[in-house]
Amino acid sequence: MFTEKGEQRKMQVYNTLTKKKEEFVPLEEGKVRMYVCGPTVYNFIHIGNARPMIVFDTVRRYMEYKGYEVNYVSNFTDVDDKIIRKANEEGVSPEEISRRYIAECKKDMSMMNVKPATTHPLATQEIDGMLEMIQTLIDKGYAYEVNGTVYFRTRKFASYGKLSHKNLDDLRGGNRSLLVTGEEEKEDPLDFVLWKPRKEGEPFWESPWSQGRPGWHIECSVMSKKYLGEQIDIHAGGEDLVFPHHENEIAQSEACNGKEFAHYWLHNAFLNIDNRKMSKSLGNFFTVREISEKYDLQVLRFFMLSAHYRSPLNFSGELMEAARNGLGRLATTAENLKYLGEHAGEGEKTSGEHELLAQAGEFTKKFEAAMEDDFNTADAIAAVFELAKYLNTNTSAQNTKAYLGECLELLVKLGDILGLILLKEEELLDGDIEALIAERQAARKAKNFARADEIRAQLLEKGIVLEDTREGVKWKRA
Ligand code: AMP
Ligand code: ZN
Repeated sequence: MFTEKGEQRKMQVYNTLTKKKEEFVPLEEGKVRMYVCGPTVYNFIHIGNARPMIVFDTVRRYMEYKGYEVNYVSNFTDVDDKIIRKANEEGVSPEEISRRYIAECKKDMSMMNVKPATTHPLATQEIDGMLEMIQTLIDKGYAYEVNGTVYFRTRKFASYGKLSHKNLDDLRGGNRSLLVTGEEEKEDPLDFVLWKPRKEGEPFWESPWSQGRPGWHIECSVMSKKYLGEQIDIHAGGEDLVFPHHENEIAQSEACNGKEFAHYWLHNAFLNIDNRKMSKSLGNFFTVREISEKYDLQVLRFFMLSAHYRSPLNFSGELMEAARNGLGRLATTAENLKYLGEHAGEGEKTSGEHELLAQAGEFTKKFEAAMEDDFNTADAIAAVFELAKYLNTNTSAQNTKAYLGECLELLVKLGDILGLILLKEEELLDGDIEALIAERQAARKAKNFARADEIRAQLLEKGIVLEDTREGVKWKRA
């Protein structure tokens, strides 16, 4: 990107670590290594959990649009007190609970058009790496064992507190709640658990210290290291994770590896409902699945992106209706452009059309400028609306197919960067599928195998799988 003066504009990212917007410079040119803390899987995800998923998926999409190759890792925490409690309530294994809700979470992600991560590691599959990191921390004097529990020695890590900018002495002296019952054996109230011994009926793994399970913070340090390396570009999550979770991740990773862990720390603000904190006890708690019964989850995505990710966001029925209307207006523009294009004349673009397209490009620049200012999706959406308005007034049945096609592409592309599908692919009807299958059979008979393969691929793209059986060709929707 270039400014009016011809200087290269750099992407600005707000870093919780420095409390400033900084120019984004990746560790390795053309590549982004990004880790986003994922949910604990003991239930359907709620709409608060959907906010980091949507906003950081949008960060990823923008980076990809800029040409970066993004290695995006997001874990599932699949061993935790809440999972064990739920398993006991239902009389099933914790594994069954986590497996069920990982599958449900993936369905929700897909409906929100959140791309699958490059890797979705599971904590329970990474225990060996955790044992290794904990041992290294003990060997280096950053951790100690008492009665089978291993704690991180926060006083030894000189920069402890650098992310949350908290006054640690106040926390130590004033906040007795940091001393959880049974942890009186800690050297310091801020020391946190790396490994804890099993309790009756809990899943456990063998370790040099006790039969037990890892603490929550060590998971992310280990999975990030394994899938992205010792140093990463971006680490992200909701703002409630800054302290203690991310502060502790920094302590563990930097003490173990002797290097800066993540360069940029990004945190989304919270989602509230009717201006109150979402909570089950207040009765204002919604799962993503519940919302999907009333709205296409594209509307939820649009709603989430209509605010800057660092601003608190209020969820209400009224705002969702507004989001539905807004998204609907953009989709209508896209559909109109498609219709006009399908009925337009062939031929070269006119010089007037060339000029109009060049002007339309200004909205793309505006969109990019908003996104490069710390992913200001609210302003980016405003630029998409301006583009749609411009296209509505500068297109008609008199335009060429080529021009209308490019107009549509401009709009759909900006939507896609935000993960908004403005032009839904038409679903193939059963009759269309059968007609294509008949054409494929005829092509095969005529030994035109290229055409037959082409039809199979075309159907596959639309999720239709063909199976050649003795009774003829069968098909199913994947
Ligand atoms: P959890 O399963 O509680 O660890 O949460 C998974 C992710 O959702 C974390 O990044 C949290 O910070 C985030 N999160 C949880 N509740 C909310 C909320 N109400 N608003 C925004 N983000 C949230
Ligand atoms: Zn984490």
